[in-house]
Amino acid sequence: MELDELYREAILDHARHPRNFGELEGSDRSASATNVGCGDAIRLFLRLSPAGRIEAIRFSGSGCAISTASASLLTLAVQGQSSEEAQALSARIQRLLTGTSAPQDDLPGDLAALAGVRRFPQRVGCAMLSWHALEEALRGPEKSPA
Ligand code: ZN
Repeated sequence: MELDELYREAILDHARHPRNFGELEGSDRSASATNVGCGDAIRLFLRLSPAGRIEAIRFSGSGCAISTASASLLTLAVQGQSSEEAQALSARIQRLLTGTSAPQDDLPGDLAALAGVRRFPQRVGCAMLSWHALEEALRGPEKSPA
């Protein structure tokens, strides 16, 4: 039971060298999510532009390779997106990972690596963790308490 080579390489690269890792100075939204079964705990920070686009996003916390890689991929994927676009992408990934859309739904760039997780249902929660945090942050108040 191994992720496909291609997927594994991208997941491991992002897990070992997470992009946009650390707290975000001047964030105006944040949300955390935990996955008790696996011990993953992730916090997302983001800053929206006046037009409502995600102009900066970072994450902190710790978790397994899949949850860390997914959060890293997320920060790259949604940068510059509107709240609606980011939520649509999150919903698309959820459908892909839970098998309600075709596996060939081609996700952009390295995000495609997440598709490999669909064969491991017990790890879908790890992969979706940061996306749930993103949705919560986007729904959240304008200002998070300092
Ligand atoms: Zn996990």
